[in-house]
Parts: sequence; structure tokens; C-alpha cells
Amino acid sequence: MALGEFDLIRSFFDRPGLRSHFSDVVGIGDDCAIISLPNDQQLAQSLDTLVEGVHFPEDCDPHLLGCRALAVNLSDLAAMGATPHSFTLGLTLPESNSVWLQSFSDGLTELATTHQIGLIGGDTTRGPLTISIQVQGTLPKGKALRRNGAKAGDLIYVSGYLGEAAGALPAVLRGEKPENASTSEEQYLLQRYYRPSPRVSLGQWLLENGASAALDISDGLLGDLGHILKASQVGAELNISSVPVSSELESLLGVEKARELALTGGDDYELCFTWPEQKKLQLPDSLLADNHVTCVGRITPSPGLVDAETGQPLSPQAYQHF
Ligand code: ADP
Ligand code: MG
Repeated sequence: MALGEFDLIRSFFDRPGLRSHFSDVVGIGDDCAIISLPNDQQLAQSLDTLVEGVHFPEDCDPHLLGCRALAVNLSDLAAMGATPHSFTLGLTLPESNSVWLQSFSDGLTELATTHQIGLIGGDTTRGPLTISIQVQGTLPKGKALRRNGAKAGDLIYVSGYLGEAAGALPAVLRGEKPENASTSEEQYLLQRYYRPSPRVSLGQWLLENGASAALDISDGLLGDLGHILKASQVGAELNISSVPVSSELESLLGVEKARELALTGGDDYELCFTWPEQKKLQLPDSLLADNHVTCVGRITPSPGLVDAETGQPLSPQAYQHF
């Protein structure tokens, strides 16, 4: 059954599980949403757009799409150390399909509930399926995990295991869903693609405890670490053999291809951060349990990214074999 625009918004987006838990927020229903911030806080904002056929395959499971669309935006807040506050949703739909909308809204609600972030407004239009989400988060005034704070001597860390979303891509493009994957490895990788884990608590802890720089890895470690190096005007030595690769990725693709994807594959949404060498990184147990964190290299004064073992320059292109 096709719903009108306002019924659609009321049924699927102005629902209890998506409402803000901040009592002073003006959410869906007015011309603008309103949020207020305590005097000692500032607002962090980020927008990501996912287009069908470009950022996700046609006929993608709407529940997984709802999870993924919000997760990639939450990952940007995590990278700055921000606390999720609220989000708006620009939704372009080819048709008003209640079954699709219910499932998409359930996926959004699942992640919004986990991260306590409310949907406070948006826009709904007809056209090729496109999902734009803008997230807002809060940061203590004057503080943020920026890309430009890395100093020579700092250690470089990453969260999670890398290359998994890129490893899932062939199966994603074939239209496979996690629940009917042919092997348990493939199922695991598909889950990692569709349900990235935004490292929100880790980002907040890193901000509070003095990480020097951070970003989220969306385009591959080599390229994204390059953004930190450029912004901070430093270089780095990377220990390629310590870049974390899961046994699932290795057994599916072999050691060499798995490592290539871990260095250059996109869509992982893990954090890469730098940590001052004079301080020991001591994550609390609560974070250690959920965030596998690995030291992968060190910042150097001279610019350029090199292999720590051979001294050879590393670039995303040079490392791509295919
Ligand atoms: P306007 O006429 O001011 O552009 P709309 O009629 O587009 O407002 O939307 C009505 C209300 O519903 C607004 O509060 C808007 O923020 C909200 N809204 C519209 N689309 C969405 C959506 N996809 N998700 C969440 N809120 C939405
Ligand atoms: Mg209006």
C-alpha cells in the first residue's frame, strides 16, 4: 500500500525508537529542528550520502541499509571523539513501499537505539534511491580529535581488523546477504560490510585521554593515514606485518591478497589514531573487550609513508596488485 508523504514520515520516522532522548529538542513536525547545547559544549556535524548502484547494490536489504547508512555517519563522529546527539535524514525514494520502509526504519532504529541518537528531521522526495544522513554530535568546547595533531615519535594505532569490507565486496555485488552466504567466512565478512561498528566509545576515550590525531578509515589505511601525515606535516613508518588481518579474510583470500586489502581496501570504518610516545596507551577493560587495537607504526619527522622494514615508500597505488 502506498502511503502519502506525511503518513509515511509519521509511520516510519516519527516513531518512539527514533525519538531524541533530550527533552529540550524540537524534533520532527516543525519547519526546523532545534537543539540546544550547554555553554561548555560545541557541535560536530557530518553528512554522508549513499546512492543506490554507487554506494550500495540494487535490491539491497533495507534493514542492513538502514544500519549501514547510520553507522558510516556515526563513524565520523567517533573519529572526532564526539558524542552522538541527533541526526536528520534526506530520503529519496522511487516509490512509497511500506514493507521496504518498515525494514529500513527498523535498521535505523536498531543503531539509533544502541548509540542513543535521535532522528529530529529530514526531507522526503521521489527519485532514484538515495539516503543522506547528517549527524550532529557534541564535543567539549575547544576540544576535538583532529587530523593535524600527530607529532614525530607518536605511535600509530588502528582498531579492529582491516580489509574486511573490501573482502566482502564481490559477494555484496553478487547480491549476497549475510544470512544466505555460502561459507561462514563469507557470512562474517558480509556482516562486517553491512554492519560496521562505529568506534564511538573508543573515540570519546581517545579524546579524553590525549590521542594526538585520529580519523576513520573509509578509503583504505595507506590513503587515510596519508591524510593524517599531510595535515600534521609529518611522515610515518608502517610495520606492514603488524597490520591486523582476520583469519576469516586470510582463509578466504590468502595471506597476500588479504594484506593488500587491509592496506588499501575501503569501507572498514575503523579508527586510525596517533598516540604520544611518552605516554603508555592503557585502554580500560570495557574498551579492550570490544575494540581490538593494534600498533602498526610510528610517526617520523620527514614527510612520506615508508615500509618500516625496507624503508621503501608506500602508496595505495604501489601496493595494489590488481
Ligand atoms: P517542509 O515543508 O518545511 O520542508 P516537510 O513537509 O518536508 O517540511 O517535512 C515535515 C516534517 O517532517 C519536518 O519536520 C521534517 O523535518 C520532517 N521530515 C521530512 N522527511 C523526513 C525524513 N525522511 N525523516 C525524518 N523527518 C522527516
Ligand atoms: Mg517548511
